[in-house]
Amino acid sequence: MNDELRELYQEVILDHNKRPQNFGHLSNSNREADGHNPLCGDHISVSLLLENDKIQDLKFEGQGCAISKASASMMTSAVKGKSVSEAEKIFANFQAMVTSDHEPSEDEAELMGKLTVFAGVRDYPSRVKCASLAWHTLQAALNSADKPVTTE
Ligand code: ZN
Repeated sequence: MNDELRELYQEVILDHNKRPQNFGHLSNSNREADGHNPLCGDHISVSLLLENDKIQDLKFEGQGCAISKASASMMTSAVKGKSVSEAEKIFANFQAMVTSDHEPSEDEAELMGKLTVFAGVRDYPSRVKCASLAWHTLQAALNSADKPVTTE
């Protein structure tokens, strides 16, 4: 990572950690899931309103390190208003970016927007789970049954 990207990475993470977007519980949600990263102690829960195969609105809440919170904040802005398949595509790109040397194509980079700053966590394997926790939780929420949630 060059210095410029490192600086941007820190700036974006610190900013979202300080002022998270879409923080709280969505009162009219119909899908919810909790995510936990025991390695770091991060907890994230995602509540969303899925209608006509579209994520109409979503919020997150939880406790965790700066990376997990910033990633959750940016995840919610990235997928709000997107279809399920678009959200899954962004998640797949995100996962590839933080776990491999895959350089996003121009199209992918455009789809990812600011999320590309998380390419930096690739250098810190222990933080990859912090950065991807919100995305796994989103996926669990999308796959969850309509409320009321029944546990297995
Ligand atoms: Zn963490």
